[in-house]
Amino acid sequence: MADPSDEDLIEACPECDTAAVRARHPEKPSSRRNGSDARYRCSHCQARFDEPNFRPRKGNTGPGAGSALTAKLAKLDPEDVGGAD
Ligand SMILES: [Zn+2]
Repeated sequence: MADPSDEDLIEACPECDTAAVRARHPEKPSSRRNGSDARYRCSHCQARFDEPNFRPRKGNTGPGAGSALTAKLAKLDPEDVGGAD
């Protein structure tokens, strides 16, 4: 019963799509000025944003992630797939 909406989502940078985003904790949330007090900041490209992108953790975890997943799937025996009824 895998519900796509129930996947484990991670926060990703809307600029460079890495997961290297950090939530900032403004001491005075009410003292925003000129929109420069974004809640999130990317430690990879330094982009600032209020809302990060959300994507499945397994979507893109870095270079080689795709091939690793392919290798993992290739190891699965057809009898093990969908046989848990
Ligand atoms: Zn970024």
